[in-house]
Amino acid sequence: MKFDSIPFCRASIDDNEIQSVIEVLKSGWITTGKKTVEFEKMSAEYIKCDHAIALSSCTAALHLALLALDVGPGDEVITTPLTFASTVNTIIHTGATPIFADIDIKTGNIAPEEIEKKITSKTKVLLPVHYAGLPCPMDKIIALAKKYNLRVIEDSAHAIGSTYNGEKIGSKSDISCFSFYPTKTMTTIEGGLLTCNDPKIAEKVRNMSLHGLSKNAWSRYTQVGNWRYDVIFPGYKYNMSDVQSAIGVEQLKKLDYFIKRRRELASLYIKEFQNLSCLSFQPYSEDNSYHLFVIVLNQKSKIARDELIIELSKRNIGTAVNFIPIPMHSYYRENLGLNIKDFPNCEQFYNGAISLPLFPELTNEQALYVANTVKGLIT
Ligand SMILES: *Cc1c(COP(=O)(O)O)cnc(C)c1O
Repeated sequence: MKFDSIPFCRASIDDNEIQSVIEVLKSGWITTGKKTVEFEKMSAEYIKCDHAIALSSCTAALHLALLALDVGPGDEVITTPLTFASTVNTIIHTGATPIFADIDIKTGNIAPEEIEKKITSKTKVLLPVHYAGLPCPMDKIIALAKKYNLRVIEDSAHAIGSTYNGEKIGSKSDISCFSFYPTKTMTTIEGGLLTCNDPKIAEKVRNMSLHGLSKNAWSRYTQVGNWRYDVIFPGYKYNMSDVQSAIGVEQLKKLDYFIKRRRELASLYIKEFQNLSCLSFQPYSEDNSYHLFVIVLNQKSKIARDELIIELSKRNIGTAVNFIPIPMHSYYRENLGLNIKDFPNCEQFYNGAISLPLFPELTNEQALYVANTVKGLIT
């Protein structure tokens, strides 16, 4: 069987999202308001956390998370080199210094042993990324945080619906930040969510997310109008609109189905690839919500990763590389003095890594076609 084209990802939007957006557009209130309150409440119930704050992006959530924990000049934040730029940019925006700890080559996640080597008296926050949706070993990371008196912010951009020790990611650490960008497991087009259980952090984040307006000013969105407002901090403009929240509410209703389907497709890929010696992939885990399915080619592969991308693209199969490691970008290399050679696991992982098509509407037949095409090219 041959297919016209198989994209790398595709958001599942149907009439429910469309109808819901139309209702908000006709309602007379289109920015942050009732729908956003509903989306936040639903998210908090889904994740089982005390506070869920809808924001304009995961990048905004990470920025406010760091500021809420008073991260600033002179502080160090330890994160992974295998992440997207915003994890690191937001640390830089606060004036703090990002420090990198190499990954575990089998999972792509930051390795706790490597974190411990990088802890200094300046370290303030550990910022793990749940790569591809597979939770980091949080027991060990939280134990390190306790031992050295540090806070933990999770970059959970890939991990909405992932679980750890039977509980949803975002229910336990100090702060967790999710992304609803169109490529992610669920979308609000652009959007993010910050979760926490500390009411003081939640209040600080809400204040900073809307110009630094005091509590009674931002709560006017949920109550009958109050014209008075007071600025208590030079804040940001990071709120989510009701149009986005309307999409989020409908997506959340389908999230468990999305994840079930992603797990099925990941299992299908694993079945097809498990006996090959020329590649590796994250071990299957029911904790993983499978934002991505990444294979890592090794020397035994008949063609290298870059060629595989070209050959798949000629066959109209979309792929991605998650991610070009932070030390390989010119800004970080030149300004933070980073060298990829100092992160041998990350370098090796990146050299072979390619993310295959994975989204709920991908059919089993399409996934099989992708797997067989890949196998034909690499063996
Ligand atoms: C997508 C992504 C982000 C940024 O998410 P936005 O919602 O686009 O700001 C941050 N971290 C990681 C690991 C991501 O993949």
